[in-house]
Amino acid sequence: MVRVHVCLECGCPMTGKGEFCARKCRHDFNNRRRQRGAELYDLYMAHRFERSQAQQLGVFQAINRLASNYRQEDLQRRAGRKSWRSPRTVLEERPYLKAISTYDGTGRRARA
Ligand SMILES: [Zn+2]
Repeated sequence: MVRVHVCLECGCPMTGKGEFCARKCRHDFNNRRRQRGAELYDLYMAHRFERSQAQQLGVFQAINRLASNYRQEDLQRRAGRKSWRSPRTVLEERPYLKAISTYDGTGRRARA
């Protein structure tokens, strides 16, 4: 039985492995995530590590506003297709995020 699914970026039907129909679609999908992530990064880090100032400035409200704006863009420009990857997939790729461990200085993987 052939698995039919749609390209995460353009929504065209496709079969086989992979999430994208073409390199351009992969690039466009990841580039949007990169741009949006950069916009969120400073706010989220302040929310997490400069809590007092972040609360005074309403940083988490701004984070939520950005997410809502991104979703509206997705609904208008992407026929409602999600612009983010499955959290299950993301966490499966990064088991250290669920491990009981300490920071090892690399910023990526912690040792158990
Ligand atoms: Zn595509």
